[in-house]
Amino acid sequence: MAQETKNKLTQLLCQRIDQQGPLTIADFMYEALQHPKYGYYNRPHVLGQKGDFVTAPEISQIFGELIGLWMLERWQSMGEPQSFSLIELGPGRGTLLCDLLRAAQLMPAFLEAADVHLVESSANLREVQRKKLADFSPTWHNDITTLPQKPSLIVANEYFDALPIRQFAKLKANKWREVLVGSNDTSELGYIMSEEIDPLQIVALGASSSSLETHDFVEVSPATSAQATLLADHLKSAGGSALFIDYGYQQAEGYNSLQAVKDHQKHDPLYEVGTADLTAHVDFEQLTRCFSQRGMNTFGPVAQGAFLSALGLEARLNNLVQNASPSEERELRSGAERLVASEKMGDLFKVLAVSSSPQTPPGFPYPNQNN
Ligand code: SAH
Repeated sequence: MAQETKNKLTQLLCQRIDQQGPLTIADFMYEALQHPKYGYYNRPHVLGQKGDFVTAPEISQIFGELIGLWMLERWQSMGEPQSFSLIELGPGRGTLLCDLLRAAQLMPAFLEAADVHLVESSANLREVQRKKLADFSPTWHNDITTLPQKPSLIVANEYFDALPIRQFAKLKANKWREVLVGSNDTSELGYIMSEEIDPLQIVALGASSSSLETHDFVEVSPATSAQATLLADHLKSAGGSALFIDYGYQQAEGYNSLQAVKDHQKHDPLYEVGTADLTAHVDFEQLTRCFSQRGMNTFGPVAQGAFLSALGLEARLNNLVQNASPSEERELRSGAERLVASEKMGDLFKVLAVSSSPQTPPGFPYPNQNN
């Protein structure tokens, strides 16, 4: 690769590696996504048809609307508190919340009681959210530590998959090394292996010992564990429920799930850093464990398709197509199909609910055993 083709963030990371040594994948992901000047989330148009990737709320309004109905039930099940926080983590373009709040017009008292709080790190996306959600006067937070102590209903779609992961590989029997990002003489980034490390350190970071026995490759997300623990403590003291929807697996599968997407196509994560979205699959076992260990009731994860169908996707679709033109009807039907079809998003995306109450929320068959 010629020197001039390397972008600024790649150059900055190479300088940092030269001075301080190789980066963990987590540090690399953090810089690539969050660097205040060159990080991916501070680019214009990251999300949506014109951006690099499309998320469920950008595909169909039904997604946010059904989550709105779910929130109405949760609010009722809490005894209809007259003041509560409606919180979204990583709201992107604000589309989910916009659709959710429209569906919530069914219960005006819910809207009156709701204070909207957004946890968002990107200055650029905050601007988009500010315009879209102006009627609801949201309050922004850099992270979850500043959320107010009020009953809370929380939603996060494709949030945890953006949080940094660390990767470890077993090269010989029980000899583990961490996958790191280094740079070569011509200032190109590449993967390198750390010195051998004690597998107990990987367990301490959140991996299960059984996945170290079964697999030669494991991923852990200390950032996910830290945030889930804070959220569990928040829900425990303030009361409420949360819904987490993400691309992920129910049990660690032992492969490298770090992926970069640019312009709706796969991209090399180490090339032109900061110009592509970077995600990793969410380990729902780890996520669920963080909540149940702090005394929260957990439900699922269930597949997104089953969840949305149980909440009435078909009925809402039939209702919407009644007033639609033929081309709108085609779009509505293909959007809904994309959310639920098992070969599209229906099975790959999972939904986990967490609550301070043991009562099973809509869309989930039964409480988890370890609650
Ligand atoms: N939920 C939206 C957007 C998903 S993209 C949707 O479904 O369309 C991920 C979102 O999380 C973006 O808004 C991004 O800026 C935000 N985000 C990522 N990491 C974050 C962090 N550590 N703290 C706060 N927000 C973060």
